[in-house]
Amino acid sequence: MSAGSGAALEAVRYGASELARAGAVLSVDLDAVRANYRLLGAQAPRAACAAVLKADAYGLGMERVAPALAREGCRVFFTAHVAEGMRLRQLVPEHCAIYVLHGPPPGTAPDFYQYDLIPVLNDPGQLREWRAAARQLGRRLPAAIQLDTGMSRMGMAPAELAAESAKPDWLSGLDLKLVMSHLACADEAGHPMNAGQRRRFERLREVFPGVPASLANSSGVFLGPAFHYDLLRPGAALYGINPQPDQPNPLRQAVQLAARIVQVREIAEGAAVGYGARWVAPGPRRIATIALGYADGWLRSLSGRGQAFVDGVAAPFAGTVSMDSITLDVSGLPAERVAPGRLVDLLCAQQDLDAVARDAGSIGYELLTRLGGRFHRRYLGA
Ligand SMILES: *Cc1c(COP(=O)(O)O)cnc(C)c1O
Repeated sequence: MSAGSGAALEAVRYGASELARAGAVLSVDLDAVRANYRLLGAQAPRAACAAVLKADAYGLGMERVAPALAREGCRVFFTAHVAEGMRLRQLVPEHCAIYVLHGPPPGTAPDFYQYDLIPVLNDPGQLREWRAAARQLGRRLPAAIQLDTGMSRMGMAPAELAAESAKPDWLSGLDLKLVMSHLACADEAGHPMNAGQRRRFERLREVFPGVPASLANSSGVFLGPAFHYDLLRPGAALYGINPQPDQPNPLRQAVQLAARIVQVREIAEGAAVGYGARWVAPGPRRIATIALGYADGWLRSLSGRGQAFVDGVAAPFAGTVSMDSITLDVSGLPAERVAPGRLVDLLCAQQDLDAVARDAGSIGYELLTRLGGRFHRRYLGA
């Protein structure tokens, strides 16, 4: 997104009316997502690479991201909720597998077999529910089992697994496709949890000889071959978030964001800007108000810390982030570059998701998944 392009050029590129109405423009680069998928898969040539599309493909839009990844050769997808899986089923070819991480909420078994979804069974209750569904239906039903190897969030605890697997018919009616676990600290390569979880996974999965295994999320992919098993499960890295925060990001940014200038004003020394009058002009200043705020996912914690870019030049946030607007100090910029109606960049070459998230005291995941519904969305590539 070039903030430098004129309104006429923008009209040609994006269609005048939609863009003219939009407070902010989110560009999603599907070619970048596809390139990231290839790069992740290449880290583990002997494993298959799935894609995690929960939360509307981390906010990028499942409708466009899923078919792009399927075209890139992705055959296995994960969602969190069954409803997400049902939506995804309409978007990818029939032969693609769709796993639902939260498993089947009580009473939803018919959704799973009607939409050909595979539940990840996380506890003895879900296991029981799924066995009952198979019995009722009179055929074997596909399933994955998640094991808790130390995160205490989802998956069967070692004691539960021991108790369940002692029962002779504990997997009856189930066609077990995958055994998986999830890493708590994969983004810290040196963290002792990683080796510990892997050891526990090794031990627990002995109960499932011959069943394909999966442990690595995005960051786990970069922990080395011992973590790859049969299936990688990256989400964030597909969308450009750095899986190794202490190293240069090998992935391409998949989103760009630009917001429109609503108003520009000159203020005198001592004038206050924004809620709480927390920012006071240290001299004569030019302030530009842009049409983006915390309701759009630009976190309020960026007040006084964030910045936008005008043709590559930084314009710091002045004052608190409002619900629908943010005030920028654009005093250093030529007036014609900050005229009302022009776009300024929030996610761009100068500032990626991880950088903004750091300023906000958050992580790229949170920022990305909160990007709001009011943006004009453009999809590039694929
Ligand atoms: C969200 C999630 C993933 C993907 O994690 P990223 O860090 O986004 O790559 C993989 N597995 C499970 C169980 C998850 O919940």
